[in-house]
Parts: sequence; structure tokens; C-alpha cells
Amino acid sequence: MTTRSLFLLPGDGIGPEAMTEVRKIVAWMNDARGTGFVTDEGLVGGSAYDAHGSAISEGDMAKALAADAVLFGAVGGPKWDGVPYEVRPEAGLLRLRKDLELFANLRPAICYPALAGASSLKPELVEGLDILIVRELTGGVYFGEPKQILDLGNGQKRGIDTQVYDTYEIERIASVAFELARTRGNRVCSMEKRNVMKSGVLWNQVVTETHRAKYPDVKLDHMLADAGGMQLVRAPKQFDVIVTDNLFGDLLSDVAAMLTGSLGMLPSASLGAPDPKTGKRKALYEPVHGSAPDIAGEGIANPIAMIASFAMCLRYSFELIGDADNLEKAIANVLEKGIRTADIMAPGCRKVGTAEMGDAILAEFRALSA
Ligand code: NAD
Repeated sequence: MTTRSLFLLPGDGIGPEAMTEVRKIVAWMNDARGTGFVTDEGLVGGSAYDAHGSAISEGDMAKALAADAVLFGAVGGPKWDGVPYEVRPEAGLLRLRKDLELFANLRPAICYPALAGASSLKPELVEGLDILIVRELTGGVYFGEPKQILDLGNGQKRGIDTQVYDTYEIERIASVAFELARTRGNRVCSMEKRNVMKSGVLWNQVVTETHRAKYPDVKLDHMLADAGGMQLVRAPKQFDVIVTDNLFGDLLSDVAAMLTGSLGMLPSASLGAPDPKTGKRKALYEPVHGSAPDIAGEGIANPIAMIASFAMCLRYSFELIGDADNLEKAIANVLEKGIRTADIMAPGCRKVGTAEMGDAILAEFRALSA
């Protein structure tokens, strides 16, 4: 039987509560569908700091590196606000991204019909929205050197960040975007600022060349990133896959995310390069939200972002496309039935807690899988 290894890092705050709901789905899939998931579990963030003084142990890092996929909950909370910078909870996530070389961040913005009214845009602009933002995650201005504050000696200082991209970095993120587009609407829009940035000129050239050489069947458009931001809130449904750099992707993915309502709904995936031998990519799946210390322990957190992150894992790490489709459909159906956690509650709907929402999605998933 095929075995599929999953390494779970629930983390802090509502992370463990949301992960519990994913565990139920994994257990059912193994029992009923023979999916052969083998799970192991570790500590990350504040819980790891409490146990062994670092944001993730070397043993858990090794398990993350060996697994087919990592599922990550959330880290942080006021309890750890005063811990040293190098071992702060977020350091665990940054270490995972760095050591697993997760250069491609995927953030879908899907608007479930039942939640169209909760968007800050008019429902007709967002109903049925399904776009995917592919953000370069390990390069660009967040990492480029020099990166410093210089004392100019005349009472002035100078802050310096460096935007830098090499050909291979653009080529590999563009390839991810084109490949994903082939599994969806077959369209990619690349966004940069070639009008004012040299890195934007190179970005545009390399995306164009990668398209010509390997993906001519995919439709490619280019847009300046500022115009892209405007178009995202003017007419978001015009996009299928958007590919952009680290900085613009950070901003544009947050804008796109908020078109769809609550933080508790948003999944993400971060992928590395394919292994030369197996063709499998390292991957980490996590909800966009944080550890929500204000509601942690109350059993009221929305588990949908975590469950939808697991659906992305089924799709991208295990090619269980039918299961991923069914799990996403199960979420939509449950919302359609008016079942809501507190963060997405609306008049006339039934308010439930984390476990009941997870159970409702699992019941729907079972029915769809029958
Ligand atoms: P947050 O995402 O934790 O919470 C923001 C607001 O949204 C809160 O009111 C919270 O209750 C609500 N919320 C978030 N997720 C929810 C869910 N699933 N269901 C219902 N409500 C939800 O962001 P924050 O308050 O800025 O940060 C809290 C902690 O989380 C901080 O320590 C921060 O550093 C950390 N954080 C971690 C990550 C991560 O682990 N990737 C991301 C962001 C923030």
C-alpha cells in the first residue's frame, strides 16, 4: 500500500484546535479510503520554546525535511512576547521556509457563494471568485543585500534594502505559475514594475521567455503591479493565476484575501523545487491566520482555513485531486446550509464551535465521497 507521510506542527493558540479537525479527516480517509497517511507530530513556536528553548528542535526539523508534506497550525501569543529574538515563535516558521527552500507561496482567493455578502466588495463582483496568487517567497527586497541602516555622520541616517532577482529565481516561480494555470483556467498574469525597476524589466523578460520556451499553450498577460492592485479590487474575476515577486505578492495576496471575507477562511501552501529523483516538491501548508490568542481555548475558532490548507495538500502534494475537490465542495456545502462559526456568523444562520464545524465538513465530505 502507498504510504504518505504527513508531519503535523499544530503550534500555539488556536493552531492545535484547528489541527484536531484535520486529524479527524485524515483518520477517516485512512479508514474508509485506504489513503495510507502516516502522521507524526512535533512542536513549533511558543510550545517548542517552552519544551526546549528553541522555536523548533533539530529533531522536528529533520522530520519536517523527511516528510512528504508538513501541516502547520499557527504560532505566537503574548506569553512569548518577551523571549529572545532568535527564538521567538515566528523563527520556527522562518526556519522551516528556509531549510525546506519553499520559494513558491500559493494563496488562493476563493469566494464561497454563501459568503459573497460578507465581502467588502459588491456580491456580484466576488461571487464565484477563484483566483490563485503565486508569490516568490525567498528572494527580492526582503532578503537582498546590502540591508542596513547607515549612519551618515551628519545627523542623518540612511535605510537600505536591496531588490534583487536572478534569472533562475524568476524562471522557477514562473514555471510553478504556468504549471498551476494548466490545472485551472490556463491563464497567468505576471505583475512587476518594469517602468521604474530594473528587477521588474528582468522579471518581465524572464517570464516572457519561460512562457515562450515551455508553456506557449498558457495565456500570458503582463500588468504593472500598481495597476494590478487596482484591477484586483475593480474586477477581481478577470484573473486566474497571478505571479509576482515577494514584496508585491505580500501586498497583493492580502488585498485579494480580504475580498473573500474572514481570516478564518484563508488557506495557503508553500512549495519548494521538485526533487530530482522523485519529482516530489517539499511543501508546507498553513492557514493565513495567526494563533488568535483572544479566542484560543474557547473552542470557537473557525477550522476552515486549516481544513482548506489540507485540501491544498491533497491536491499539490498527493495528487488526490478528487478528494481535494470534494473537501472544498464539502466546505462550500456546509456554508450553504447556514452553519457558521462566530467569525462568519450572519443573521438566520446557526452558530457552531470548532468541533461542530469540523464534524459538519467531515459528514459532508463523507457523503460526497460515497
Ligand atoms: P490573528 O490572525 O491571530 O488574529 C486576528 C483576528 O482574527 C483575531 O481577532 C482573531 O480572533 C481572528 N481570527 C484569526 N483566525 C481566526 C479563526 N480561525 N477563527 C476565528 N477568528 C479568527 O492575528 P494577530 O492577532 O495579529 O496575531 C496573534 C498572534 O499570532 C501573534 O503572536 C502573531 O505574531 C501571530 N501570527 C502568527 C502567524 C502564523 O503562525 N503564521 C500569522 C500571523 C500572526
